[in-house]
Amino acid sequence: MGVDSGLPDFRGTEGFWRAYPALRNSGVDFSSIASPSTFESAPALAWGFYGHRLALYRRTLPHAGFALLKHWGERMPQGYSVFTSNVDGQFQKAGFDLARIHECHGSIHHLQCLVPCRESVWSAGDFKPAVDDVVCRLTNTAPSCPKCGALARPNIMMFHDTGWVEARTDAQSDRQEAWLALVKRPVVIELGAGTTIPSVRYFSQRVVDELGGSLVRINPYQSGVPAGQGVALAAGASAGLAAIGRALGEGWALPSGRSTRTSLSTRAVRSDEGSKPTRG
Ligand SMILES: [Zn+2]
Repeated sequence: MGVDSGLPDFRGTEGFWRAYPALRNSGVDFSSIASPSTFESAPALAWGFYGHRLALYRRTLPHAGFALLKHWGERMPQGYSVFTSNVDGQFQKAGFDLARIHECHGSIHHLQCLVPCRESVWSAGDFKPAVDDVVCRLTNTAPSCPKCGALARPNIMMFHDTGWVEARTDAQSDRQEAWLALVKRPVVIELGAGTTIPSVRYFSQRVVDELGGSLVRINPYQSGVPAGQGVALAAGASAGLAAIGRALGEGWALPSGRSTRTSLSTRAVRSDEGSKPTRG
């Protein structure tokens, strides 16, 4: 989903290094930079990577597909709910209801104590990272825990992560499960969810298995849906959603004159960073 907004695709080690050439030079791959142990051993490097992404996601505008999803979801008799493994906060930025989003791997826009000394999560809003992209290093002061003073880290589930504070994500999950308990025959729109870390695919399959309804799987690489459970579109998220919009016709189009790129006020059911090796 994020790739169509111009965000880097981390698929494969080569893809990751194309986005972060400084890490290629030092032989650091995604699973080693996205690790609490790197925040302990090399905090400037770890925050160089996450600080760069935080700044990038802050300035990225969600693509037009987000507005379509939101518009369709709001017209559903039972509303919508988002399940995403993306940590980039793009659904919030596109105007989706905060109470209807479940970020299963956490959010880069929130921080927690690295220790952690307590089960607390706070906004990263006050942290303005300065990063030397050539060496992928944070050049200003990293955020710290207001309680104990230890280094703070993104509230994202990383690799080999025993210290992730799950409280915020758990609360999101509880709200989503309460909604799911009430809905009948949902349409699950799965966007770019990969099989490497299949959190999103497990979720969409479970919803369809338990509640019926149908699955619309949009994925340029790994489409295909079990017989009788829905349809698959071999396409990127933005192109796939636009194609569905054309098929639905005028009655489901966005109100005219609304610029999806600039209004920012703009899910049906879910998406993801998932065709990449997610987590974050
Ligand atoms: Zn602390």
